[in-house]
Amino acid sequence: MSSSFHPPLRTLMGPGPSDVSPRVLEALARPTIGHLDPMFVELMDELKSLLHYAFQTENALTLPVSAPGSAGMEATFVNLVSPGDTVIVCQNGVFGGRMKENVERCGATAVMVEDTWGEPVSIDKVSAAFAANPQASILAFVHAETSTGVRSDARALCALASEHGALSIVDTVTSLGGIELLVDAWGADAVYSGTQKCLSCVPGISPVTFSDRAVERINNRSHKVQSWFLDMQLIMGYWGSGAKRAYHHTAPVNNLYALHESLLMLKEEGLEQAHQRHMNNHLALVAGLEAMGIGMAVAKEHRLPQLNLVLIPEGVDDAAVRQALLQKYDLEIGAGLGALAGKAWRIGLMGSSSTQRHVRLCLMALEAVLADMQAPIVSGAALPAAEAVFSNS
Ligand code: PLP
Repeated sequence: MSSSFHPPLRTLMGPGPSDVSPRVLEALARPTIGHLDPMFVELMDELKSLLHYAFQTENALTLPVSAPGSAGMEATFVNLVSPGDTVIVCQNGVFGGRMKENVERCGATAVMVEDTWGEPVSIDKVSAAFAANPQASILAFVHAETSTGVRSDARALCALASEHGALSIVDTVTSLGGIELLVDAWGADAVYSGTQKCLSCVPGISPVTFSDRAVERINNRSHKVQSWFLDMQLIMGYWGSGAKRAYHHTAPVNNLYALHESLLMLKEEGLEQAHQRHMNNHLALVAGLEAMGIGMAVAKEHRLPQLNLVLIPEGVDDAAVRQALLQKYDLEIGAGLGALAGKAWRIGLMGSSSTQRHVRLCLMALEAVLADMQAPIVSGAALPAAEAVFSNS
């Protein structure tokens, strides 16, 4: 006979979801009310204002899409790309490839700017792509590549798009709340994110924001948006300022309580403090790993503090280590993807999973598992190295 599902209590240090704080889980369990209830409508206004803070924007069209990050991605493409358009798409990992799919499914041409996985998007190559394709109307790129742990220069890329009269579509699924993201100051036009990374909320919602330039492009479309569900003009009937809050779809009421709580926690901590916390814990983890004799796969200046690409020591069985961490320590870390599969682990320090406790647990557990396997590591040095960083931060 079936019975209730009781998941194990894991520590989530992979590429997302990250640990969800008890405060957010408690919000999720509050009584469900109607999605047109006047009290819920008040919550929607607050959510928009908290998203304005998180994204650092005044954009009127800022809201949480009722589906995961991939839906936020699709929402930006289907609303801004029309058949026959040319879109420059940067790919330096998994998610640029998905952007290409989106462009092609909108009936447009994707001009690919490819960089090696583990490197940031090359500004020079994007410049050259604009020179060769002056008709390009959009530049799309990933700010924080979760598949490789690399940060690209979103400020410079947005500036380049606007210099060429193009709009920018920016994937901030892994960056929001973890590293600097200044939507208005950088002139980013269509930005989407996810809730399950540095916001440490439950998965399944995608915050998005569109600049006035992007909204103008949406309002001047000659073709209907191919997706009914993600058509921003229809969604605005429910979410828009001064809108009648007419029914479009049934909003995921409890998930939105949870998002509200996690955004509130971010605001209480402050963006700069949250970024600094992510950086301090990253530096401690790296110091510990290096003391153990384990190297990092990404050059220092391009590393994401919230997603660490760690080189698997010679001769070590990738899957066996991850399995032992899960079985013995209830600790999840991520596998490498694509060319990095079997060569690197992805250790996330995102949102509520970015604490000194997480760093210590990860170093201690990894060292124990690797020592058990007679892997070529230095024992006893990792925790003191991490503690030295903590005491200086
Ligand atoms: N973009 C990036 C950079 C991501 O890391 C992810 C998920 O890991 C997505 C998009 C897709 O988000 P979701 O899995 O919530 O649909």
